[in-house]
Amino acid sequence: MRRLSILGSTGSIGRQTLEVVRNAPSDFTVEALTCESDIDTLYDQIMEFNPRLVSVVNESKAGELSVRLKGSGNNTEVITGREGNIIAATLDSSDTLVGAIVGFAGLEPVYHAILSGKDIALANKETLVAGGDIIMPLIREKGVMMLPIDSEHSAIWQCLKGEKRDDLDRILITASGGPFRGMTREQLENVRPEDALRHPTWNMGGKITIDSATMMNKGLEIIEAHHLYAIDCDRIDVVVHPQSVIHSMIRLKDGSVLAQMGKPSMVLPIEVALYYPDRGPSIVREFDPFEAVNSNLTFEPCDTEVFRLVKLAYEAGRKGGLVPAVMNASNETAVRAFLKGKIDFLGIEKVVFETVEKMDPLISGTELTLESIEQADKDARICSEEIIDGNYGK
Ligand code: NAD
Ligand code: MG
Repeated sequence: MRRLSILGSTGSIGRQTLEVVRNAPSDFTVEALTCESDIDTLYDQIMEFNPRLVSVVNESKAGELSVRLKGSGNNTEVITGREGNIIAATLDSSDTLVGAIVGFAGLEPVYHAILSGKDIALANKETLVAGGDIIMPLIREKGVMMLPIDSEHSAIWQCLKGEKRDDLDRILITASGGPFRGMTREQLENVRPEDALRHPTWNMGGKITIDSATMMNKGLEIIEAHHLYAIDCDRIDVVVHPQSVIHSMIRLKDGSVLAQMGKPSMVLPIEVALYYPDRGPSIVREFDPFEAVNSNLTFEPCDTEVFRLVKLAYEAGRKGGLVPAVMNASNETAVRAFLKGKIDFLGIEKVVFETVEKMDPLISGTELTLESIEQADKDARICSEEIIDGNYGK
Protein backbone atom coordinates (compact mmCIF):
# COMPACT_ATOMS: atom_id res chain seq x y z
CA MET A 1 0.00 0.00 0.00
CA ARG A 2 1.32 3.46 -0.92
CA ARG A 3 0.60 6.40 1.34
CA LEU A 4 0.40 9.47 -0.88
CA SER A 5 1.06 13.19 -0.64
CA ILE A 6 -0.27 14.58 -3.91
CA LEU A 7 1.09 18.03 -4.72
CA GLY A 8 -1.03 19.84 -7.30
CA SER A 9 -4.01 17.54 -6.71
CA THR A 10 -6.56 19.80 -8.41
CA GLY A 11 -4.79 19.81 -11.78
CA SER A 12 -4.96 17.41 -14.68
CA ILE A 13 -2.35 14.94 -13.33
CA GLY A 14 -3.55 15.37 -9.72
CA ARG A 15 -7.13 14.51 -10.64
CA GLN A 16 -6.06 11.49 -12.70
CA THR A 17 -3.93 10.29 -9.78
CA LEU A 18 -7.01 10.39 -7.59
CA GLU A 19 -8.85 8.43 -10.30
CA VAL A 20 -6.26 5.65 -9.86
CA VAL A 21 -6.84 5.77 -6.08
CA ARG A 22 -10.63 5.79 -6.53
CA ASN A 23 -10.36 2.67 -8.68
CA ALA A 24 -8.50 0.69 -5.99
CA PRO A 25 -9.01 2.43 -2.62
CA SER A 26 -7.50 -0.42 -0.62
CA ASP A 27 -4.15 -0.01 -2.44
CA PHE A 28 -3.59 3.60 -1.27
CA THR A 29 -4.15 6.13 1.46
CA VAL A 30 -4.29 9.85 0.72
CA GLU A 31 -2.32 11.66 3.42
CA ALA A 32 -1.96 15.16 1.94
CA LEU A 33 -3.25 17.21 -0.98
CA THR A 34 -2.07 20.63 -2.14
CA CYS A 35 -3.04 23.22 -4.72
CA GLU A 36 -2.49 26.81 -5.69
CA SER A 37 -6.01 28.24 -5.22
CA ASP A 38 -8.75 25.95 -6.60
CA ILE A 39 -10.50 25.31 -3.28
CA ASP A 40 -13.78 24.16 -4.84
CA THR A 41 -12.09 21.13 -6.41
CA LEU A 42 -9.97 20.61 -3.30
CA TYR A 43 -13.05 20.68 -1.07
CA ASP A 44 -14.65 17.87 -3.07
CA GLN A 45 -11.39 15.90 -2.92
CA ILE A 46 -11.25 16.33 0.87
CA MET A 47 -14.81 15.08 1.22
CA GLU A 48 -14.03 12.01 -0.88
CA PHE A 49 -10.50 11.07 0.25
CA ASN A 50 -10.34 12.53 3.77
CA PRO A 51 -6.63 13.48 3.85
CA ARG A 52 -4.86 14.30 7.11
CA LEU A 53 -3.67 17.67 5.77
CA VAL A 54 -4.15 20.00 2.83
CA SER A 55 -2.23 23.06 1.76
CA VAL A 56 -3.39 25.96 -0.39
CA VAL A 57 -0.69 28.38 -1.54
CA ASN A 58 -3.07 31.32 -1.68
CA GLU A 59 -3.56 32.45 1.92
CA SER A 60 -7.01 33.97 1.68
CA LYS A 61 -8.28 30.91 -0.21
CA ALA A 62 -6.81 28.69 2.53
CA GLY A 63 -8.74 30.74 5.12
CA GLU A 64 -11.95 30.41 3.13
CA LEU A 65 -11.49 26.63 2.88
CA SER A 66 -10.89 26.33 6.66
CA VAL A 67 -14.18 28.07 7.39
CA ARG A 68 -16.04 25.88 4.92
CA LEU A 69 -14.55 22.68 6.38
CA LYS A 70 -15.38 23.67 9.96
CA GLY A 71 -18.96 24.23 8.87
CA SER A 72 -19.10 20.70 7.51
CA GLY A 73 -17.54 19.10 10.61
CA ASN A 74 -14.45 17.85 8.75
CA ASN A 75 -11.17 17.92 10.70
CA THR A 76 -8.58 17.94 7.89
CA GLU A 77 -5.83 20.40 8.80
CA VAL A 78 -5.46 23.36 6.40
CA ILE A 79 -2.10 25.08 5.97
CA THR A 80 -0.83 27.64 3.47
CA GLY A 81 2.08 29.29 1.68
CA ARG A 82 5.21 27.95 0.06
CA GLU A 83 6.06 26.21 3.33
CA GLY A 84 2.76 24.33 3.13
CA ASN A 85 3.96 22.34 0.12
CA ILE A 86 7.12 21.32 2.00
CA ILE A 87 5.17 20.21 5.07
CA ALA A 88 2.83 18.17 2.86
CA ALA A 89 5.81 16.71 0.98
CA THR A 90 7.60 15.58 4.11
CA LEU A 91 4.66 14.37 6.21
CA ASP A 92 5.67 11.44 8.45
CA SER A 93 2.60 9.43 7.57
CA SER A 94 3.22 9.46 3.79
CA ASP A 95 5.80 7.40 1.92
CA THR A 96 5.34 8.69 -1.64
CA LEU A 97 5.16 12.16 -3.10
CA VAL A 98 3.24 12.63 -6.34
CA GLY A 99 4.78 15.70 -7.98
CA ALA A 100 1.92 17.15 -10.03
CA ILE A 101 2.56 20.86 -9.47
CA VAL A 102 3.17 22.74 -12.69
CA GLY A 103 6.43 24.62 -13.12
CA PHE A 104 9.52 25.37 -11.09
CA ALA A 105 7.49 25.66 -7.86
CA GLY A 106 7.58 21.85 -7.77
CA LEU A 107 11.34 21.60 -7.24
CA GLU A 108 11.64 22.70 -3.62
CA PRO A 109 9.04 20.28 -2.15
CA VAL A 110 10.45 17.39 -4.22
CA TYR A 111 13.94 18.16 -2.92
CA HIS A 112 12.73 18.11 0.70
CA ALA A 113 10.66 14.96 0.16
CA ILE A 114 13.76 13.10 -1.05
CA LEU A 115 15.72 14.35 1.96
CA SER A 116 13.04 12.89 4.21
CA GLY A 117 13.17 9.53 2.44
CA LYS A 118 10.04 9.59 0.26
CA ASP A 119 9.73 7.87 -3.11
CA ILE A 120 8.99 10.39 -5.85
CA ALA A 121 6.35 9.78 -8.54
CA LEU A 122 7.12 12.69 -10.82
CA ALA A 123 5.01 14.35 -13.51
CA ASN A 124 6.48 17.80 -12.89
CA LYS A 125 9.23 17.78 -15.55
CA GLU A 126 10.34 21.35 -14.78
CA THR A 127 11.80 19.99 -11.51
CA LEU A 128 14.24 17.79 -13.44
CA VAL A 129 14.95 20.33 -16.17
CA ALA A 130 16.00 22.97 -13.65
CA GLY A 131 17.28 20.75 -10.85
CA GLY A 132 18.12 17.33 -12.33
CA ASP A 133 21.79 17.69 -11.43
CA ILE A 134 20.98 17.98 -7.73
CA ILE A 135 17.84 15.80 -7.66
CA MET A 136 19.21 12.60 -9.26
CA PRO A 137 22.34 12.36 -7.05
CA LEU A 138 20.14 12.96 -4.00
CA ILE A 139 17.77 10.17 -5.10
CA ARG A 140 20.77 7.79 -5.22
CA GLU A 141 22.24 9.05 -1.95
CA LYS A 142 18.95 8.62 -0.08
CA GLY A 143 18.15 5.27 -1.74
CA VAL A 144 14.60 6.33 -2.67
CA MET A 145 12.84 5.62 -5.96
CA MET A 146 12.27 8.00 -8.85
CA LEU A 147 9.07 6.82 -10.53
CA PRO A 148 8.51 8.72 -13.80
CA ILE A 149 4.93 9.70 -14.71
CA ASP A 150 5.55 11.70 -17.89
CA SER A 151 4.23 9.25 -20.52
CA GLU A 152 7.38 9.19 -22.69
CA HIS A 153 9.60 8.60 -19.68
CA SER A 154 7.29 5.93 -18.35
CA ALA A 155 7.52 4.24 -21.77
CA ILE A 156 11.33 4.43 -21.77
CA TRP A 157 11.41 3.13 -18.20
CA GLN A 158 9.20 0.16 -19.08
CA CYS A 159 11.30 -0.63 -22.17
CA LEU A 160 14.51 -0.48 -20.14
CA LYS A 161 13.23 -2.95 -17.53
CA GLY A 162 15.39 -6.05 -17.66
CA GLU A 163 17.89 -4.55 -20.14
CA LYS A 164 21.49 -3.86 -19.19
CA ARG A 165 22.04 -0.13 -18.96
CA ASP A 166 25.20 -0.38 -21.12
CA ASP A 167 23.16 -1.94 -23.92
CA LEU A 168 21.13 1.24 -24.43
CA ASP A 169 22.21 2.97 -27.63
CA ARG A 170 19.59 5.70 -28.25
CA ILE A 171 16.27 6.95 -26.93
CA LEU A 172 13.58 7.75 -29.52
CA ILE A 173 11.21 10.09 -27.77
CA THR A 174 7.86 10.43 -29.51
CA ALA A 175 5.90 13.66 -29.90
CA SER A 176 2.38 14.24 -31.21
CA GLY A 177 3.63 17.35 -33.00
CA GLY A 178 0.98 19.47 -31.26
CA PRO A 179 -1.76 21.53 -32.90
CA PHE A 180 0.60 23.32 -35.30
CA ARG A 181 2.38 20.34 -36.82
CA GLY A 182 3.33 21.02 -40.44
CA MET A 183 2.85 24.78 -40.20
CA THR A 184 5.33 27.34 -41.53
CA ARG A 185 6.82 30.23 -39.54
CA GLU A 186 4.51 32.61 -41.42
CA GLN A 187 1.45 30.62 -40.39
CA LEU A 188 2.63 30.56 -36.76
CA GLU A 189 2.76 34.37 -36.66
CA ASN A 190 -0.99 34.65 -36.38
CA VAL A 191 -1.97 31.81 -34.06
CA ARG A 192 -3.91 32.80 -30.94
CA PRO A 193 -3.95 31.32 -27.41
CA GLU A 194 -7.27 29.58 -28.10
CA ASP A 195 -5.72 27.81 -31.15
CA ALA A 196 -2.66 26.80 -29.14
CA LEU A 197 -4.84 25.47 -26.30
CA ARG A 198 -6.57 22.99 -28.64
CA HIS A 199 -4.33 19.90 -28.47
CA PRO A 200 -5.12 17.11 -30.95
CA THR A 201 -4.54 14.05 -28.73
CA TRP A 202 -3.94 15.00 -25.07
CA ASN A 203 -6.14 16.87 -22.60
CA MET A 204 -3.75 18.64 -20.18
CA GLY A 205 -3.19 21.77 -18.09
CA GLY A 206 -2.72 25.13 -19.87
CA LYS A 207 1.04 25.52 -19.52
CA ILE A 208 2.00 22.10 -20.89
CA THR A 209 -0.54 22.52 -23.71
CA ILE A 210 1.20 25.70 -24.86
CA ASP A 211 4.56 23.93 -24.46
CA SER A 212 3.23 21.23 -26.78
CA ALA A 213 2.25 23.86 -29.34
CA THR A 214 5.74 25.45 -29.32
CA MET A 215 7.30 21.95 -29.01
CA MET A 216 9.19 23.20 -25.95
CA ASN A 217 7.48 20.33 -24.14
CA LYS A 218 9.68 17.96 -26.17
CA GLY A 219 12.72 20.11 -25.42
CA LEU A 220 11.99 19.86 -21.70
CA GLU A 221 11.44 16.11 -22.05
CA ILE A 222 14.82 15.60 -23.74
CA ILE A 223 16.51 17.15 -20.70
CA GLU A 224 14.21 15.19 -18.37
CA ALA A 225 15.23 11.91 -20.08
CA HIS A 226 18.89 12.94 -19.98
CA HIS A 227 18.68 13.16 -16.18
CA LEU A 228 16.45 10.14 -15.58
CA TYR A 229 18.44 7.76 -17.75
CA ALA A 230 21.93 9.33 -17.52
CA ILE A 231 22.25 9.63 -21.30
CA ASP A 232 23.66 12.51 -23.37
CA CYS A 233 21.05 14.71 -25.04
CA ASP A 234 22.70 13.94 -28.39
CA ARG A 235 21.67 10.30 -28.02
CA ILE A 236 18.00 11.27 -27.74
CA ASP A 237 16.02 11.71 -31.00
CA VAL A 238 12.62 13.31 -31.39
CA VAL A 239 10.17 11.29 -33.52
CA VAL A 240 6.93 13.03 -34.42
CA HIS A 241 4.16 10.43 -34.23
CA PRO A 242 0.79 12.22 -34.43
CA GLN A 243 -1.36 9.26 -33.31
CA SER A 244 0.25 9.23 -29.81
CA VAL A 245 0.01 5.43 -29.63
CA ILE A 246 3.71 4.67 -29.23
CA HIS A 247 4.76 6.61 -26.15
CA SER A 248 8.51 6.30 -26.83
CA MET A 249 11.12 3.77 -27.92
CA ILE A 250 14.62 2.69 -27.04
CA ARG A 251 17.22 1.33 -29.44
CA LEU A 252 19.65 -1.22 -28.03
CA LYS A 253 23.21 -1.68 -29.20
CA ASP A 254 22.32 -4.67 -31.43
CA GLY A 255 19.81 -2.47 -33.29
CA SER A 256 16.70 -3.92 -31.65
CA VAL A 257 14.04 -1.24 -30.99
CA LEU A 258 11.56 -1.61 -28.11
CA ALA A 259 8.42 0.50 -27.90
CA GLN A 260 5.65 0.91 -25.34
CA MET A 261 2.13 1.44 -26.70
CA GLY A 262 -1.26 2.33 -25.32
CA LYS A 263 -4.13 4.78 -25.53
CA PRO A 264 -3.15 8.40 -25.00
CA SER A 265 -4.14 8.59 -21.32
CA MET A 266 -2.05 9.64 -18.34
CA VAL A 267 -3.88 7.22 -16.05
CA LEU A 268 -1.72 4.34 -17.26
CA PRO A 269 1.70 5.93 -16.61
CA ILE A 270 0.42 7.13 -13.21
CA GLU A 271 -0.57 3.52 -12.42
CA VAL A 272 2.74 2.15 -13.68
CA ALA A 273 4.56 4.52 -11.31
CA LEU A 274 2.36 3.94 -8.26
CA TYR A 275 2.23 0.13 -8.52
CA TYR A 276 5.89 -0.37 -9.43
CA PRO A 277 7.32 -3.06 -9.50
CA ASP A 278 3.86 -4.69 -9.71
CA ARG A 279 1.13 -4.00 -12.24
CA GLY A 280 -2.19 -2.39 -11.27
CA PRO A 281 -5.73 -3.13 -12.45
CA SER A 282 -6.84 -1.89 -15.86
CA ILE A 283 -8.77 1.40 -15.89
CA VAL A 284 -8.01 2.63 -19.38
CA ARG A 285 -10.02 1.11 -22.22
CA GLU A 286 -7.88 -1.53 -23.89
CA PHE A 287 -5.77 -0.63 -26.88
CA ASP A 288 -7.24 -2.07 -30.07
CA PRO A 289 -4.83 -2.17 -33.03
CA PHE A 290 -7.73 -2.51 -35.47
CA GLU A 291 -9.42 0.76 -34.55
CA ALA A 292 -9.32 3.09 -37.55
CA VAL A 293 -7.61 5.88 -35.68
CA ASN A 294 -4.80 3.61 -34.64
CA SER A 295 -4.34 1.55 -37.76
CA ASN A 296 -1.94 3.94 -39.47
CA LEU A 297 1.03 4.73 -37.31
CA THR A 298 3.22 7.40 -38.90
CA PHE A 299 6.60 8.85 -38.02
CA GLU A 300 8.29 12.06 -39.16
CA PRO A 301 11.21 14.21 -38.01
CA CYS A 302 10.70 17.33 -35.91
CA ASP A 303 11.30 20.52 -37.92
CA THR A 304 13.60 22.40 -35.56
CA GLU A 305 13.83 25.33 -38.01
CA VAL A 306 10.14 25.97 -37.40
CA PHE A 307 10.03 24.85 -33.75
CA ARG A 308 13.33 26.41 -32.71
CA LEU A 309 12.88 25.91 -28.98
CA VAL A 310 13.69 22.22 -29.49
CA LYS A 311 17.08 23.23 -30.84
CA LEU A 312 17.62 25.58 -27.90
CA ALA A 313 16.72 22.83 -25.45
CA TYR A 314 19.34 20.51 -26.99
CA GLU A 315 21.93 23.29 -26.58
CA ALA A 316 20.84 24.02 -23.01
CA GLY A 317 20.94 20.31 -22.15
CA ARG A 318 24.42 19.98 -23.63
CA LYS A 319 25.71 23.02 -21.73
CA GLY A 320 24.07 22.01 -18.46
CA GLY A 321 24.85 23.98 -15.30
CA LEU A 322 22.23 26.67 -14.74
CA VAL A 323 21.38 27.12 -18.43
CA PRO A 324 18.39 24.71 -18.41
CA ALA A 325 17.00 26.41 -15.27
CA VAL A 326 17.23 29.80 -16.98
CA MET A 327 15.62 28.46 -20.14
CA ASN A 328 12.81 26.89 -18.12
CA ALA A 329 12.10 30.02 -16.05
CA SER A 330 12.07 32.18 -19.15
CA ASN A 331 9.72 29.78 -20.90
CA GLU A 332 7.29 29.82 -17.95
CA THR A 333 7.32 33.62 -17.96
CA ALA A 334 6.85 33.85 -21.73
CA VAL A 335 4.03 31.27 -21.80
CA ARG A 336 2.17 33.23 -19.13
CA ALA A 337 2.65 36.46 -21.11
CA PHE A 338 1.34 34.75 -24.26
CA LEU A 339 -1.76 33.47 -22.45
CA LYS A 340 -2.39 37.01 -21.16
CA GLY A 341 -2.13 38.38 -24.70
CA LYS A 342 1.04 40.39 -23.94
CA ILE A 343 3.14 38.70 -26.62
CA ASP A 344 2.38 36.74 -29.76
CA PHE A 345 3.10 33.05 -30.27
CA LEU A 346 6.55 33.44 -31.83
CA GLY A 347 7.30 35.98 -29.10
CA ILE A 348 7.61 33.04 -26.66
CA GLU A 349 10.62 31.73 -28.52
CA LYS A 350 12.09 35.21 -28.91
CA VAL A 351 11.90 35.92 -25.17
CA VAL A 352 13.44 32.55 -24.24
CA PHE A 353 16.31 32.86 -26.76
CA GLU A 354 17.11 36.41 -25.64
CA THR A 355 16.98 35.55 -21.94
CA VAL A 356 19.32 32.57 -22.35
CA GLU A 357 21.71 34.66 -24.45
CA LYS A 358 21.74 37.51 -21.92
CA MET A 359 22.13 35.32 -18.86
CA ASP A 360 24.49 32.64 -20.15
CA PRO A 361 27.72 34.61 -19.46
CA LEU A 362 26.48 35.60 -15.97
CA ILE A 363 25.84 32.08 -14.73
CA SER A 364 28.67 29.98 -16.11
CA GLY A 365 30.78 28.25 -13.48
CA THR A 366 28.29 28.77 -10.64
CA GLU A 367 28.12 25.81 -8.26
CA LEU A 368 24.79 23.98 -8.46
CA THR A 369 22.80 24.07 -5.24
CA LEU A 370 19.09 24.48 -4.54
CA GLU A 371 19.81 28.12 -3.68
CA SER A 372 21.82 28.90 -6.83
CA ILE A 373 19.13 27.26 -9.00
CA GLU A 374 16.43 29.29 -7.25
CA GLN A 375 18.42 32.47 -7.78
CA ALA A 376 18.95 31.72 -11.48
CA ASP A 377 15.22 31.01 -11.83
CA LYS A 378 14.38 34.35 -10.20
CA ASP A 379 16.89 36.34 -12.26
CA ALA A 380 15.73 34.72 -15.50
CA ARG A 381 12.10 35.65 -14.75
CA ILE A 382 13.10 39.29 -14.16
CA CYS A 383 15.20 39.31 -17.32
CA SER A 384 12.33 37.84 -19.37
CA GLU A 385 9.81 40.33 -17.93
CA GLU A 386 12.13 43.16 -18.95
CA ILE A 387 12.43 41.77 -22.46
CA ILE A 388 8.64 41.39 -22.67
CA ASP A 389 8.01 44.95 -21.47
CA GLY A 390 10.82 46.42 -23.56
CA ASN A 391 9.83 44.68 -26.75
CA TYR A 392 6.12 44.82 -26.48
CA GLY A 393 5.61 47.86 -24.20
CA LYS A 394 2.21 46.81 -22.90
P1 NAD B 1 -2.43 21.79 -14.24
O1 NAD B 1 -2.26 23.23 -14.55
O2 NAD B 1 -3.65 21.10 -14.71
O3 NAD B 1 -2.34 21.57 -12.66
C1 NAD B 1 -1.34 22.15 -11.90
C2 NAD B 1 -1.59 21.89 -10.43
O4 NAD B 1 -0.54 22.48 -9.68
C3 NAD B 1 -2.90 22.49 -9.89
O5 NAD B 1 -3.41 21.65 -8.90
C4 NAD B 1 -2.44 23.79 -9.25
O6 NAD B 1 -3.31 24.25 -8.24
C5 NAD B 1 -1.12 23.34 -8.69
N1 NAD B 1 -0.15 24.40 -8.41
C6 NAD B 1 0.33 25.35 -9.25
N2 NAD B 1 1.26 26.07 -8.61
C7 NAD B 1 1.38 25.57 -7.36
C8 NAD B 1 2.15 25.87 -6.22
N3 NAD B 1 3.03 26.87 -6.22
N4 NAD B 1 2.00 25.09 -5.12
C9 NAD B 1 1.09 24.07 -5.09
N5 NAD B 1 0.34 23.75 -6.13
C10 NAD B 1 0.48 24.49 -7.24
O7 NAD B 1 -1.12 21.06 -14.78
P2 NAD B 1 -0.95 19.55 -15.26
O8 NAD B 1 -1.28 19.45 -16.69
O9 NAD B 1 -1.60 18.62 -14.29
O10 NAD B 1 0.63 19.39 -15.17
C11 NAD B 1 1.30 19.21 -13.94
C12 NAD B 1 2.74 18.82 -14.24
O11 NAD B 1 2.74 17.54 -14.88
C13 NAD B 1 3.46 19.76 -15.21
O12 NAD B 1 4.78 19.87 -14.84
C14 NAD B 1 3.34 19.06 -16.55
O13 NAD B 1 4.40 19.38 -17.42
C15 NAD B 1 3.40 17.61 -16.13
N6 NAD B 1 2.75 16.68 -17.07
C16 NAD B 1 1.43 16.82 -17.31
C17 NAD B 1 0.80 15.95 -18.20
C18 NAD B 1 -0.69 16.04 -18.47
O14 NAD B 1 -1.21 15.23 -19.23
N7 NAD B 1 -1.41 16.97 -17.90
C19 NAD B 1 1.55 14.97 -18.84
C20 NAD B 1 2.91 14.86 -18.55
C21 NAD B 1 3.50 15.72 -17.65
MG1 MG C 1 5.13 13.87 -21.99
